[in-house]
Amino acid sequence: MSAEKPPAWEAEYDTVRDLLGQSFMRLRFPATFEKEFRKTMNARALETVRENYWMLFLLSLSAVLIIYFQYTVGGGWIGAVEDLRLAVLMGLSIISVLVVFTSLAKMPSMDRHFFSYTMVCCLLMLVFMTIFPAYFRDEVLRQRSTYLVIYLLMIVYGVANLRLHQSALIGFTGMGVVVLAVNVLGMQRFDWGMFMQFFFLTNLVGVGNNYVVEVRERRLFLQSRLLDLEKRQLNKLSERLVQLAREDGLTGLANRRHFNDRFLMEWERARRDGKPLALVFSDVDHFKAFNDKHGHLEGDRALIAVADVLKSVATRPGDLAARYGGEEFVLLLPNTTCDGAAEVARELIAGIDAKAIAHRGSKVAKHVTISAGVASMVPDVHIAPAKLIDLADEALYAAKHEGRHRVVVSTTC
Ligand code: GH3
Ligand code: MG
Ligand code: MG
Repeated sequence: MSAEKPPAWEAEYDTVRDLLGQSFMRLRFPATFEKEFRKTMNARALETVRENYWMLFLLSLSAVLIIYFQYTVGGGWIGAVEDLRLAVLMGLSIISVLVVFTSLAKMPSMDRHFFSYTMVCCLLMLVFMTIFPAYFRDEVLRQRSTYLVIYLLMIVYGVANLRLHQSALIGFTGMGVVVLAVNVLGMQRFDWGMFMQFFFLTNLVGVGNNYVVEVRERRLFLQSRLLDLEKRQLNKLSERLVQLAREDGLTGLANRRHFNDRFLMEWERARRDGKPLALVFSDVDHFKAFNDKHGHLEGDRALIAVADVLKSVATRPGDLAARYGGEEFVLLLPNTTCDGAAEVARELIAGIDAKAIAHRGSKVAKHVTISAGVASMVPDVHIAPAKLIDLADEALYAAKHEGRHRVVVSTTC
């Protein structure tokens, strides 16, 4: 038997174990895992948006209401009217971007571009949250509105399920875009100190937070991968066990236990369908003498050759060739009459003759031959399944008795 190639999962299993064993988790796996990890993370991020988009709107609404109530006493706006207009404009701009963002996230065709449109939308919102407040006349309103940047960055770094470098790209590019916008607009009153404090520091905290989250995500990914591999390994092993439990080790035919199971199953099926079920019992002639003359090893080879012929004649779906005992074989033939089974038995004898395996101890031929007994019946609740086995066995005995190397059909046929 040729040595089996170690399966691919073994190498993968080792790699995953190694990665999990490392105390410092790099934010990059070997190429194949990395691709799959990114796919998983992207899918997770999309899922997060799809399932929680209403939270974004609720948050926006809360922010609008909180700002509004802080500036209204007795139902009127107490700040500058220009500030009110600006606040409304800012709110509408941010909500418009949110509407576009959530609409895009709902389109499966846009999934490939998820990060690109997320980044564009976040940058737009960051610019709106920094530039509009800079134009507020009211100092307090100006300062409080800047807090919005922190909330958005918290979402980007904390709950969006983005990878670290994606969140950091949004956060730091956001800073760059705001600096650019401030310069393009030639804003004199822009508070750089506040900008650095809220924007830069939040980015830093976000990066730290996201690093911890991504390391955890990567560990979880590897662990679930490991479980998957272990499951596959167990499935393979149990498949092999089932196979071993059913197979005869020498010939690869079904073993007696498997034959018994299948025989009872087919018996029941034939009984329900009112169809005949046939058995062909066969036994190698003078096989003891074969072993004596040619040796046990040659004997094994001869049995393998006989088994090959059995396999080649059991061709219909449902047919089963089994090794019943030492040099005794059986063919289970569903939906087959005595005539049909006798035909198969003759084919079997002719096939073994054609192999012309030299047999110096045989009294019936110069080569290995077999004898076969055939029986078939339509099962009935009043008949025990063992009856059919007995009939086929009796026919085989008769074949031996009548001179071997022949087929005998049961007298009940
Ligand atoms: P008959 O024609 O009446 O069947 O005579 P026989 O010699 O074949 O019958 P008997 O039952 O006396 O002998 C069967 C022989 O088959 C004896 C046993 O050593 C041999 N045998 C059974 N299993 C194996 C096997 O796995 N390998 C080998 N090489 N021989 C086996
Ligand atoms: Mg024999
Ligand atoms: Mg025998």
